[in-house]
Amino acid sequence: MTKKTILSASVPTGVLTVGNYIGAIANWSAMQEKYNCLYAVADLHAWTVHQDPEMLRKRSLSFYAQYIALGLDPEKNILFMQSHVKEHAELAWILSCFTSTGALNRMTQFKDKSQQHAKNINAGLYTYPVLMAADILLYQANLVPVGEDQKQHLELTRDLVENLNGKFGDVFTMPDPFIPKLGARIMSLQDPEKKMSKSDENEKNFVSILDDPKKIMKKVKSAVTDSGSEIRYDENNKGIANLMTLYSAFSGKDMPTIEAEFDGKMYGHLKVALGELICETLAPVQEKYHDLIANKDHLHELMRSGAEKARERATKTLASVYDKVGFYRV
Ligand code: ATP
Ligand code: MG
Repeated sequence: MTKKTILSASVPTGVLTVGNYIGAIANWSAMQEKYNCLYAVADLHAWTVHQDPEMLRKRSLSFYAQYIALGLDPEKNILFMQSHVKEHAELAWILSCFTSTGALNRMTQFKDKSQQHAKNINAGLYTYPVLMAADILLYQANLVPVGEDQKQHLELTRDLVENLNGKFGDVFTMPDPFIPKLGARIMSLQDPEKKMSKSDENEKNFVSILDDPKKIMKKVKSAVTDSGSEIRYDENNKGIANLMTLYSAFSGKDMPTIEAEFDGKMYGHLKVALGELICETLAPVQEKYHDLIANKDHLHELMRSGAEKARERATKTLASVYDKVGFYRV
């Protein structure tokens, strides 16, 4: 049986957090044996909101190195920069001609982001879901790991597949959402009602995977908790539940084991133990990251080879699409 293809991408804004790690990347490295995996640093998507060019360049390289440091093997996966494969933009154009403005008007992320960036409601922000559809369809991906926030965009992709396959015969593989087994949702440290996010303006809300141990301890110790003292998992006590979820994800222990371990102890004990556990887990990741980032030539080599492998698939799909829609070929 041929392996299924998975595509996932992350926009290089901010620094990856322990939320991204637990919710996404820890699963990615577990999937690399079972599936054909492609992971992109989605730099084209970044410009839907304003960017500082030098910062974007730096972050893109950093994200690429973070992927590898977090366990994605560039030999087993295709790791690439979206802008290195020009077919993304080309396919997005074709797809945009088959997407109604009515459908784009219904996208809740567009509505949310237009409010957040009221001074820069650009056409790219509006057509973002079309570019995302191109990312997925170029590689004939069977599965796409999506969080709650991306479900609507995947639906739009599926509608495009139905529409184009109906008109032109089988051009694209129908992608399904991939919901990983593991993958707790990690909440913000200062406001456990909302999710931890790498683009959060308040850096106390997240632990980034590149934070030094001092910073990690400080952020975890100052995490907001309720006024109770017993360490019991209760979804209503969001702060302590979040710290326990983190502890569970990083230690592999289940909640009853954690409750027993901290029986009779205070919140402070859990915070210190969790902080130390995160530091310990991230130490080798950070070491690997710093080695990687110190050798740009090597990273560039990996990027070139990743892009080449991605392009091999992308050109095939695009050629077939160009053919079907009637572009003159010589
Ligand atoms: P942004 O604020 O830029 O949207 P983000 O932290 O939400 O950043 P994304 O690039 O949107 O990150 O998502 C990357 C991956 O990380 C997705 O698979 C998403 O489901 C996962 N993810 C993001 N935040 C969390 C979280 N708090 N807990 C678990 N998984 C998360
Ligand atoms: Mg997000």
